[in-house]
Amino acid sequence: MIRNLLRAAFFLFVISETWATADAQTLVLTGGTVYASPEAAPLADAVIIATNGVITAIGSRSEVQIPADIRVIDCTGKTIVAGFWNSHVHFTEPVWRNAGAAPAVTLEAHMQEMLTRWGFTSVWDLGSDPDDSLPLRRRVNSGEVPGPNIFFAGNMFPKGGHPVYIPREVPLPEVATPEEAAKLSRDYLAMGLDGIKLFTGAFMGDRPVVNMEPAVARAAVDVAHGQGKPVFAHPQNKTGVDTVIEAGVDVLAHTASSQSGYTPEQLARFKSQGIALIPTLSLFTTVVLDPAVTERVVAAAVGQLKQFSDNGGVVLFGTDIGFIKLYDTSREVELMHRVLGERQVLASLTTNPATYFKATNKGRVEKGFDADLAVLDGDPLADVRNLAKVTYTIRAGQVIYQKP
Ligand SMILES: [Zn+2]
Repeated sequence: MIRNLLRAAFFLFVISETWATADAQTLVLTGGTVYASPEAAPLADAVIIATNGVITAIGSRSEVQIPADIRVIDCTGKTIVAGFWNSHVHFTEPVWRNAGAAPAVTLEAHMQEMLTRWGFTSVWDLGSDPDDSLPLRRRVNSGEVPGPNIFFAGNMFPKGGHPVYIPREVPLPEVATPEEAAKLSRDYLAMGLDGIKLFTGAFMGDRPVVNMEPAVARAAVDVAHGQGKPVFAHPQNKTGVDTVIEAGVDVLAHTASSQSGYTPEQLARFKSQGIALIPTLSLFTTVVLDPAVTERVVAAAVGQLKQFSDNGGVVLFGTDIGFIKLYDTSREVELMHRVLGERQVLASLTTNPATYFKATNKGRVEKGFDADLAVLDGDPLADVRNLAKVTYTIRAGQVIYQKP
């Protein structure tokens, strides 16, 4: 009887092993130079094996045996780094409308133009219509539409703070009281969103910036933090930055171009509270039309990035694409590189967001990590612009973009 049970158990074991092998998705990259992390020494002529979405082996060609009969991508002459994060995007362009039913080819084409051809394997959407974006994420995660891992933050605006650059007919959720903010925060997270985005300052054109009351912001933050979720904020001006600090917000979604520099008090609080910054520098080159004004605004934003980074703050790469149409990441990395080293820019795209958002299996090219990779046509530590020259984007061992 016992022997029969053992035999049955063994049989089941064999069956499941066979199934796992037949079902296994394996991808091998050979010949590239790997930076396992921004601080790591390069590994030349490397072999990376990804099985079922995870890196199962990495080493030099002499160290790693390449399995037979599986897809091998020759990466000779290329540089391989962890897949990139864009921590500030929006799925709000007309192409995403009715994304639950739209043709997959249309969605794939735009996903490629906007994100996957720039190496992005994880993105934070800081405000879109969940009726479109949640079905879009389902189709991406099913593999029907090749795309990145998507996180969503639900946005909320101060009472009377409908920014001038968002058409009046687009309904925006405004909150007047702490109770309203707490309720909206709960509703967003119950819907399946992953965080909250507050407009602690809303740009009103010729009229004064409308700021969110700190107590209102605090109520939204408390609900999110109670569920372990991050809170982002669009600060707009000094009061908006101070509200971020007072309310316990985690991430500044922009530099504040209307403030000439962060104050020593602000920098001290950024550090003690662990606040992160998404610079969105190239955004400022697209929204102002007078070139002299643009250069002044960009210089102020770059100066804030330098202050913030020198202060030891966590910098997260982000461009606000979707709101702007500058999908090419070259300008953003070049502007960041005015004050950050190549390794710091690479960290803002990989290790910094993975660590900050507690995605502990992402951000590095190491055994046991998710096989999220960007294969670049050039060494990004030799020339930071190579970060925008992507040959392959791989998410969980699946090629989601291949340069034609
Ligand atoms: Zn934005």
